[in-house]
Amino acid sequence: MDAAPRNGSQNVKNSTSNIRGSISAMKLSEMRELLALEGIRLTRSLGQNFLHDANQLRRIIEAAELTTRDKVLEIGPGLGPLTAMLLERAGEILAIETDARLVELLRSRFAAQVAARSDAPRAERRAALRLLHDDALAYLKREPRDWRDWKLVANLPYSVASRILVELAQGERAPQRMVATLQLEVARRLMAKAGDQDYGVLTLLVQLDFEPAGWFRIPAGCFFPEPDVDSACVCLIRRPGLLLAPEHRLVFVKVVKRAFSQRRKMMLKLLKQDWPAQSLENAFATSGLSSTIRAEAVSLENFVQLAQLVGAGGGSSA
Ligand code: SAM
Repeated sequence: MDAAPRNGSQNVKNSTSNIRGSISAMKLSEMRELLALEGIRLTRSLGQNFLHDANQLRRIIEAAELTTRDKVLEIGPGLGPLTAMLLERAGEILAIETDARLVELLRSRFAAQVAARSDAPRAERRAALRLLHDDALAYLKREPRDWRDWKLVANLPYSVASRILVELAQGERAPQRMVATLQLEVARRLMAKAGDQDYGVLTLLVQLDFEPAGWFRIPAGCFFPEPDVDSACVCLIRRPGLLLAPEHRLVFVKVVKRAFSQRRKMMLKLLKQDWPAQSLENAFATSGLSSTIRAEAVSLENFVQLAQLVGAGGGSSA
């Protein structure tokens, strides 16, 4: 992406560089001023709603329980209000932003932190920031890596928030904690339990490896520009051990997706589209599930058991 045209006199430039250089949380007036001075028109499709409420930013940071040894992945730093706070608490930050205009602005705003080296003498050390200009979802898929020592702390772009969480959450190399701000409706799905209206595919794909540890609502008025819906910050903590062995995971995903493909239908009937009836009936009997049950009433533990049984060729017929 090309950088946006710059405008203005010397005064304007001085004032811009002051705002760009500050690493404290930004006020709404500063955000507006900076965007105007840089000539940046926000792109709605990139979910560019920036969080300017210092109390909400502090709550997000508290939920992350950061220490100076922590490595943090931030997706979509935007103008950097969260990045600034992360830099005060964490040891290392990798921030991935898709908008080239914002990357340029962030490089200038956080120049000292981008230059910081983690091998500097202890007294001189400050949190190091690595800024990547990339599509975060494409990056995560293209460069799979071990995120076990990392925490995700991000106000996510809403259009890809669920896909990013599912991509990061899968399996043995997932981050230790994910503190994510996203639409309230998605937060409810992430926090849901069996029997809840919001319980579904997203709940199960994430909760297989993560336990919900709390959430709070963030009103639309805390963002600039105000989004059409309220948001929430969720905190998810990686389970201490795997609930399901790697070889059964594909079956788990397939069972869950098929089971919720028509919420109001009986799950056994739906699964019969993919697996032999006898094997499924045995698996349901072994798991103590009624043959008329619907997916929305089936717990995570039961889905795990079903995936193991179906993956192994069905339950015992006892
Ligand atoms: N963290 C900032 C804040 O709290 O104010 C900005 C959050 S804003 C909701 C989402 C940010 O994600 C925007 O800066 C947008 O440009 C960026 N973004 C959108 N899609 C992205 C993607 N696929 N990869 C990386 N960044 C993306």
